[in-house]
Amino acid sequence: MPLSEDQRALVATVRDFVKREVVPIATELELADEYPHALVDQMRELGFFGATIPEEYGGSGAGAETYALLIEELAKGWMSLTGVLNTHLLVAHMIETSGTQEQRERFLPVMAQGERRAALCITEPDAGTDVAAVKTSAVRDGDDYVVNGRKMFITNGRYGSIYAIVCKTDMNADPPHRGISILLGEKGPGLDVVRDIPKLGYRGVETTEVAFEDYRTPATNLLGGTEGEGFRHVMGGLELGRINVAARAVGVARAALEAAMQYAQQRRTFGKPIAEHQAIQQKLADMATQVKAAHLLVMDAARKKDLGQRVDLEAGMAKLFASETCLNVATEAMRIHGGVGYTQDLPVERYFRDAPLMIIGEGTNEIQRQVIARNLLRHHSSGDFLFEAGL
Ligand SMILES: Cc1cc2nc3c(=O)[nH]c(=O)nc-3n(C[C@H](O)[C@H](O)[C@H](O)COP(=O)(O)OP(=O)(O)OC[C@H]3O[C@@H](n4cnc5c(N)ncnc54)[C@H](O)[C@@H]3O)c2cc1C
Repeated sequence: MPLSEDQRALVATVRDFVKREVVPIATELELADEYPHALVDQMRELGFFGATIPEEYGGSGAGAETYALLIEELAKGWMSLTGVLNTHLLVAHMIETSGTQEQRERFLPVMAQGERRAALCITEPDAGTDVAAVKTSAVRDGDDYVVNGRKMFITNGRYGSIYAIVCKTDMNADPPHRGISILLGEKGPGLDVVRDIPKLGYRGVETTEVAFEDYRTPATNLLGGTEGEGFRHVMGGLELGRINVAARAVGVARAALEAAMQYAQQRRTFGKPIAEHQAIQQKLADMATQVKAAHLLVMDAARKKDLGQRVDLEAGMAKLFASETCLNVATEAMRIHGGVGYTQDLPVERYFRDAPLMIIGEGTNEIQRQVIARNLLRHHSSGDFLFEAGL
């Protein structure tokens, strides 16, 4: 399906921003693990933090497809920048779809401006994939909830200022996920950003450990106003997160492929460019085919989401295939570069370090396979899933 005029204009804007502002400084900031304050400010001015927030709350109201295009282009320049947007817009999406009207009016306009950026606090030292095992507790006390617990790997934990805290309001619920609620919180006494966690890649953007000790947030900040709905809210939000991570993977894979194509035509061995050796051509052909297939899967998932459908299956497939593609293409690009690909003189080594995050984040690929299989088995008992899933 061809892109609309608005989508083409957006892609052109992001490409221009990436080329002029991001590419010249990404490697330096990433290697120094330095937060890109100036780039984040520019992203605010460009309206990226309101991309998917409805226009009535000051955002652009873009659908998932347009959002995926934005993320792909941005990740092609520097993947870390897409992380600042991801949990922010995921939390905005949860507030839009699951919040009370008062919560929408209070949070979405400031979030659309990007002045206040959001963090999503699910993972804990003893609970990641198994979300229902979270131990962070929230106990009602008068007009507040009192929160105690510890969260791991929280993106936007330091420079963000709105926290969607996945916690238990009923520790004894059976099954345990029925005891989960989401509380929206802001910085205040009892919320402590304990440390920035050092990482292999995805550097420059903070990944933090956050502790809550008798931290109080008003009861009016209970997402949707009803206890026990948090698991459903978070799973719905993760669909958009998976589209983000899949689109990031396509962006990084495209950057690696382009670098490999360029280098293969410049570098000569045995009297000719390495691009003329059949072994290299085979690699380039496989890489490009995988990247294109990954892009199409992302677009398919995003378009279905824009039709208002639940897309666990499609977003799972897109996230699984795009992230595995990214890992493979980044590795192959490094091989094509030979020794120089292993050095910090070129961004190929960054693509190689960034790629593994996409197989872990927003649900590991082991879990994506389970989500895909579960959906196939539930909805497509005839086995003709290609037809029945409308692919
Ligand atoms: C850089 C970075 C940023 C992150 N940002 C955030 C954030 O902003 N907010 C947030 O809440 N979290 C964040 N995370 C956490 C991330 O979502 C989790 O790391 C991820 O969900 C996996 O959880 P875990 O690390 O606890 O692994 P575990 O759940 O302990 O899994 C360990 C291994 O076991 C496998 N496994 C687990 N259960 C099963 C099963 N049933 N069947 C088969 N295999 C299984 C997993 O696939 C994995 O291979 C971030 C992580 C990183 C690295």
